[in-house]
Amino acid sequence: MSTIKATVASKHSLSPREPGALPSISVVAPAYNEEEVLETFYERVTNVLTAIGAPYEIVLVNDGSRDNTLAMMHAMRARDDRITVVDLSRNFGKEIALTAGLDHARGDVVVVLDSDLQDPPELIVEMLEGWREGYDVVYGVRSQRDGETWFKKATAKAFYRIIGKISRVQIPQDTGDFRLMTRRAVRELSKLREEHRFMKGLFAWIGFPSKPLFYRRDPRVAGTTKWNYLKLLNLAIEGITSFTITPLKVATLLGSSVALLAFLYACYVISKTIIHGDPVRGYPSLMVTVLFLGGVQLIAIGVLGEYIGRIFNEVKRRPLYLVNRMLPSSLEDAADET
Ligand code: UDP
Ligand code: MG
Repeated sequence: MSTIKATVASKHSLSPREPGALPSISVVAPAYNEEEVLETFYERVTNVLTAIGAPYEIVLVNDGSRDNTLAMMHAMRARDDRITVVDLSRNFGKEIALTAGLDHARGDVVVVLDSDLQDPPELIVEMLEGWREGYDVVYGVRSQRDGETWFKKATAKAFYRIIGKISRVQIPQDTGDFRLMTRRAVRELSKLREEHRFMKGLFAWIGFPSKPLFYRRDPRVAGTTKWNYLKLLNLAIEGITSFTITPLKVATLLGSSVALLAFLYACYVISKTIIHGDPVRGYPSLMVTVLFLGGVQLIAIGVLGEYIGRIFNEVKRRPLYLVNRMLPSSLEDAADET
């Protein structure tokens, strides 16, 4: 617990809300092949929300599941009209599914939850406390990760450290999507329509008074994670390339240093030849130099490619997702405060 250093709330002036104030709540949960957990999810979330006593809706986003998830959502919607079902036209990935959910949420505050129950819905109560204190964002910080390998923990940590160093936007460590946001935070967030959605970064980009809430991340209730290391690596590249151009600068720097070294070496070789009249030798050093330079160039081109690929995807300006069918809940639209 003591090893965790999260970015602590910035010193904004807060305007606290009434002690017992209750906003209408939208819980947004993307789901991809979650038939095993959906029912439990629904029950636990409903219990928490009913206990809170505020008007609420549960926005379930079906991200192109291949199992029974959608049918289950519709069955739930049929017996409980506090459920919104957003059925995407195919699998778009979690980040976009989440965005679709946020777009369709109508509550005064929106809570983002994973449908595999790794984020305990019971914490919504504490998040609401943060909201009453006047915060716009109350984000969950994992103080312990159960059911995850040391390798995943170590790589995750390294990633946060690197991106923390090179990006201007401070992305809090060990923070997932689990959070409560006010309507205005959601509204601003939904203006960021980039195709490459590194949600942790986007969440951090909008800023606003934010407060961490430490919690223990539970292992999945059932089913399996959809992440593998290749995907995680991709996410890391995504995160870095969509939030900083430092790799481009590093490539420039590396290229210039190598060029400088090569120049110095050339001076040395030339003077040696002039003074000693060296006969042709040095095949090994030649090979090493050529291969090394080739490697550096390829890396630099690869880095360029990452950015160009992103530009390519962004300039197409496609919609982020398409909705196949949408069943709204009975919750009324949030009063559009600031
Ligand atoms: N998810 C999704 N679309 C996908 C992959 C995942 O909507 O393509 C959802 C999934 O149903 C779950 C959440 O995103 O509610 C987190 O996924 P997962 O548990 O696989 O990731 P982890 O918790 O391991 O980060
Ligand atoms: Mg999970």
